[in-house]
Amino acid sequence: MSNKNIDWSKLDFSYIKTDKRYVSDFKNGAWDEGRLTEDANVVINECAGVLQYAQTVFEGLKAYRTQDGRIVTFRPDLNAKRMEESAKRLQMPIFPENRFIDAVEQVVAANADFVPPYGSGATMYLRPYLFGTNPVIGVKPADEYQFRVFATPVGPYFKGGAKPITLRVCDFDRAAPHGTGHIKAGLNYAMSMYAIVDAHNQGYDENMYLDSATRTKVEETGGANFIFITKDGKLVTPKSNTILPSVTRRSLCYVAKEYLGMDVEEREVFLEELKDFAECGLCGTAAVISPVGKIVDHGKEIALPSGMESFGPITKKLYDTLTGIQMGRLEAPEGWIHEIKV
Ligand SMILES: *Cc1c(COP(=O)(O)O)cnc(C)c1O
Repeated sequence: MSNKNIDWSKLDFSYIKTDKRYVSDFKNGAWDEGRLTEDANVVINECAGVLQYAQTVFEGLKAYRTQDGRIVTFRPDLNAKRMEESAKRLQMPIFPENRFIDAVEQVVAANADFVPPYGSGATMYLRPYLFGTNPVIGVKPADEYQFRVFATPVGPYFKGGAKPITLRVCDFDRAAPHGTGHIKAGLNYAMSMYAIVDAHNQGYDENMYLDSATRTKVEETGGANFIFITKDGKLVTPKSNTILPSVTRRSLCYVAKEYLGMDVEEREVFLEELKDFAECGLCGTAAVISPVGKIVDHGKEIALPSGMESFGPITKKLYDTLTGIQMGRLEAPEGWIHEIKV
């Protein structure tokens, strides 16, 4: 049982140091066997590839305690595969899928007391990441890398109910145009820092990024994909190869089709048609779905019919179904729930 004397309801989405983390080093063309360590600090050379040329990629997933007391992770194989794609794009070595899953299992098991209890709304967030460690001054990929996984308990994303947020259509690009938009890497987040602070300063919660080529199509926000619900109850989500392929989005599309009998369309979504949707949500591991109430396009307000009070009815049903699967209240599709033996 969880016995760390943490007030789970008071946690927010911030870093708390847990007992053990996983480390493996890549040197002379091979990964070492990996180990758990209590040392939360990384000591690297001042000229390390990650510090000079931002050679680093990451993943994010959660461990949950289910209704019947098991500890599980959700589709960790997809995070392993996505990290492989991210690593390839930045010319980094691949950390094999079976070892990625083993590292996640070891970290969760070693910090099991930090997995929040079922029903608390809190969860354990896991952060696998990979970065270049040896000195690199001429522009080229590093030769040595480190892969790490740490765990941190995080609080309920919606404290006191989900309040829909307001987005602004953003004039900045989220990632280098046609470059790295599809990979999960700090460099894309660095690109988004100015835009998010600027949005907050102007009273918006998040940015809606558009495709950089035509600026007519919806891409995603800084860290979450979009789903839209049409007035006749269809799920629509943007098709683009410059957005990050969200595990949550793929899962919601499946749930919509197979559990709720909805029509699902992955297609280009134009800025012009936003006014026709009934509901809008942001999807990602952290919140599963955050409802969007309003989108502001250069002073022109688009109010979603689902409003600024709470979830729209269909996004709520999708949210309840997917979290029900994750928490073990509903039967999961084959391979979605990965139990951790403690
Ligand atoms: C992580 C991330 C998402 C959400 O992906 P999930 O796998 O659902 O957590 C969406 N967009 C970006 C840019 C991301 O980094």
